Amino acid sequence: MEWLTRSGIGYDIHRLVPGRRLVLGGVVLEHPLGLDGHSDADVVAHAIGDAVLGALGLGDLGHHFPPGDPATRDISSLELLRRIAALVRGAGAEIVHVDVTVLAEAPRLGPHAAAMSQALATSLSLPPARVSIKAKTHEGLDAVGRGEAIAAHAVATVRQPDGA
Ligand code: MG
Repeated sequence: MEWLTRSGIGYDIHRLVPGRRLVLGGVVLEHPLGLDGHSDADVVAHAIGDAVLGALGLGDLGHHFPPGDPATRDISSLELLRRIAALVRGAGAEIVHVDVTVLAEAPRLGPHAAAMSQALATSLSLPPARVSIKAKTHEGLDAVGRGEAIAAHAVATVRQPDGA
């Protein structure tokens, strides 16, 4: 069988606000602020979701899970990734690898990268080695650098039987 390999790119940014838990890559982190949004606002999971959907030409996260839908209010974004993984399987496709760069001035994310890989990989039914998480600060520059927001970039590699 011939396989087509496709890549998708994803990006997300959410504002940091008081009174919310900070959930990144499915992991709850100690921080005085959390990300604002309709779901748990996990930018890492959202960037991955968009990347995977993009690789298959299936639109974006907002198309599948419209913001404002009461059914997804405060939902764990790991559950959204589980649903996206089911769409991937339904298309006869397979996620080969996901790579993420998270941009956050604080808290320090390096020590949590392995736990994020594990949580995200479990939701996508992948081994953790197929979900790479890298973190960096924004060197004090712009809204991310001032600690007002956290952003994430993701690239997903997906393979699908030719002709599917
Ligand atoms: Mg989002």
